[in-house]
Amino acid sequence: MAITIFSHPDCELHNPDPEHPECPERIAAVLDQVIRSGLDYVVRQQQATPAPLESLYRAHSKAYVDELIAKTPAEGHIWLDPDTPMTAHSFQAAQAAAGAAINAVDLVMREDNAQAFCAVRPPGHHATYDQAMGFCLLNNIAVAATHALHTYDISRVAIIDFDVHHGNGTEDIFKNDDRVLFCSSFQSQFYPFTGEDTDSPHIVNLPLPAGCKSLPWREAVYYNWLPALEAHQPELILISAGFDGHAEEEMAQFFLVEDDYFWITEKLKGIADKYANGRIVSVLEGGYNLSALGRSAVAHLKGMM
Ligand SMILES: [Zn+2]
Repeated sequence: MAITIFSHPDCELHNPDPEHPECPERIAAVLDQVIRSGLDYVVRQQQATPAPLESLYRAHSKAYVDELIAKTPAEGHIWLDPDTPMTAHSFQAAQAAAGAAINAVDLVMREDNAQAFCAVRPPGHHATYDQAMGFCLLNNIAVAATHALHTYDISRVAIIDFDVHHGNGTEDIFKNDDRVLFCSSFQSQFYPFTGEDTDSPHIVNLPLPAGCKSLPWREAVYYNWLPALEAHQPELILISAGFDGHAEEEMAQFFLVEDDYFWITEKLKGIADKYANGRIVSVLEGGYNLSALGRSAVAHLKGMM
């Protein structure tokens, strides 16, 4: 059993605005806390390889990906949506992040009882089939899922998204694909204002009110996601690991703590052990309070052990 952390220096090249919360320092906040916690002795660290374009075309329309590349400005930045800037290096960063997710899938599918975490940015879960949105250019977790279903002899995967924002992009990409069980918990009546009315047997959304603390969040997860996971029997568990529901996070109004991220991950590891030979791929999404982000990511990694 081993956990591998994938990252890439190009993920830090996307740096359009020093005021933007989705900043390059997020990666160091995670990796530094891994060292501080002593976990670096039990995890392997690997540099990712950027995603090939054909892998991106499996999760997104070819026209969208090609247009992103064509839009890349030579200098300064453009806005892909009101929250999503793009610089000369943004696509390169996004391609490295998506590549890490692919590398992580390949690793857990080829090794016995392996887990991987991708310390990458920009995040991905708001990027839809053909639209950049909410800090996200390429949907890393969707690239991972489509790569896994295309490349390996599996037909059931689960994507668990515990970011405080609804994973609308992931839902959009898999809304008609029942090979993918998608579970997203999020603050209701909040950005991106989607997912409250979704009615699909393979999508289990948990909109929870602002102010939500550990207990109601855990109850919702326990009584809704775990039975859905047991029924789906996923052969691979993918996690959109957003830590912006942490109590110290100012961007949203959930009050989760590190132990909640440990708890959910341990539960998911149990499902993975039962149905997926232990295979887990987790990809960083949100988390903008750097201290809480680092501590939460370490709790998440400990839950996989
Ligand atoms: Zn988020």
